[in-house]
Amino acid sequence: MKLFVDTVKINRFDTISGFVHASSPRYFQNQSGEIEQYDFAAKGNLQKKCSHMTQFIKTVPIKNKFPYVLNQVHSDQIFLLKDKEKTPEQVAKIKADAIITHLSEIPIGIFTADCLPILIYDPGQHVAAAVHAGRKGTCQNIVNKTIRAMSKEYGCRPEALVAGIGPGIGGCCYEIDETCLGTFENKIPFEPPFVKKRENGKFLLDLDAINTREMTVTGLLPENIFRAGECTCCSSMNFFSYRREGQTGRILTFIMMQ
Ligand SMILES: [Zn+2]
Repeated sequence: MKLFVDTVKINRFDTISGFVHASSPRYFQNQSGEIEQYDFAAKGNLQKKCSHMTQFIKTVPIKNKFPYVLNQVHSDQIFLLKDKEKTPEQVAKIKADAIITHLSEIPIGIFTADCLPILIYDPGQHVAAAVHAGRKGTCQNIVNKTIRAMSKEYGCRPEALVAGIGPGIGGCCYEIDETCLGTFENKIPFEPPFVKKRENGKFLLDLDAINTREMTVTGLLPENIFRAGECTCCSSMNFFSYRREGQTGRILTFIMMQ
């Protein structure tokens, strides 16, 4: 009996040809048939980390490819992967929160547990990006900066891009206080759907709505923005959620051009 999904997809994102993508769920079935949690952090256990990443990539399925991930630090730094000779180990040391490449057959990925993973693809220029858009990155306009970098480096036109928002915490669950909301002053309208005031004096922040607005302001067409539509905090069976659990695992979301 299959209890869980193998991979999580962004709805209708697969109808666009030229790339594969997926997000990892919380659980997988190991070789002994047991249900195990993905552990991409696996502190001090590099072998486990690598075997779990390989295990996930196998379910997609793509063969013998190891995802290129970054040393994410909630920044607005963007890394351009232009050099074919760079190894995943080298890239994993780079402190940045978005990765862009024109290289085919190289999966680029982002780790999250509530933050939004955003994938961007240019079918014409054949360029892809993976963005870590949490509260801090969103506040620093990381998705906008990534699109601008794609334009500058590769001549991508925003209106030709497609974007996919992977599983992240929804506006239903992401409660913040007034001080935290203050960091968004003059950046977003303090009104629905971006911000909702709660009766307890706190606020609900909708990272999906904020990033969608940012992408459309930058020139993406609303019909070219797709989403998994899953709230990580609401869905404990399928996802890790930092807000719900504190110390927890990570979701890996990747895109690979073919
Ligand atoms: Zn929720």
